[in-house]
Amino acid sequence: MPLVPVVQVYARDLPASSDVPFPPGTDLLQVLWCPFHHAPYYGPMAQVFWRDSADVSAPMTEFPEPPEGADGGALPVPCVLHPERVMEYPSYDMTQSQADEVQAIAEELEKETGWSYWYDLSVAPGVKLGGYPGWTQDPQWPRCACGRVMDHLITVESNEFDGEDSPRWIPVEDQAGGDVWNTVKNPTDLVLGDAGGVYVFVCSTCPGRPYETVFDCS
Ligand SMILES: [Zn+2]
Ligand SMILES: [Zn+2]
Repeated sequence: MPLVPVVQVYARDLPASSDVPFPPGTDLLQVLWCPFHHAPYYGPMAQVFWRDSADVSAPMTEFPEPPEGADGGALPVPCVLHPERVMEYPSYDMTQSQADEVQAIAEELEKETGWSYWYDLSVAPGVKLGGYPGWTQDPQWPRCACGRVMDHLITVESNEFDGEDSPRWIPVEDQAGGDVWNTVKNPTDLVLGDAGGVYVFVCSTCPGRPYETVFDCS
């Protein structure tokens, strides 16, 4: 499977309270994917590597050339991450009756504050570890062979925010001005299908950390 690097995170760069399930003896998470269209979702197929950074003796200094014929929208431009911890609340991942109940409160809240629960206050868009998947369609949580519903490990979305999310999800440092729509919104240059996302799920209790890739778009 021809792989391109997507996200690399060291445990030391995460807050101590992070619940990223590093297996014992590892401190480096690497997510790569094959940038061709894979059934059943016709999106990239991820591979997850948990490593001990001390074992990485000769890291690559150049990005490898992408495989020929790959979906260009699935080839991320190299970026540096500036992780920021945010509190999320469910949106897509609620039952209809829960959503109805929240909607009543959300309407009041929006009238008083101008904030939309659904766009501004619940699920953060963009690339993120943990929290709720940034679904574009109905949730589809994979189940591990052990019987557990897997945990959301990472969402990699085309855009860091969209028009309706603005300005809530634009980092404070970037709100000062400049061309946020083209730089901060889509720094990776990813266009996953019709601007959707790739969601990787992991079983945090099975020793081999089995994982699954889900893709959706509008
Ligand atoms: Zn492939
Ligand atoms: Zn399992």
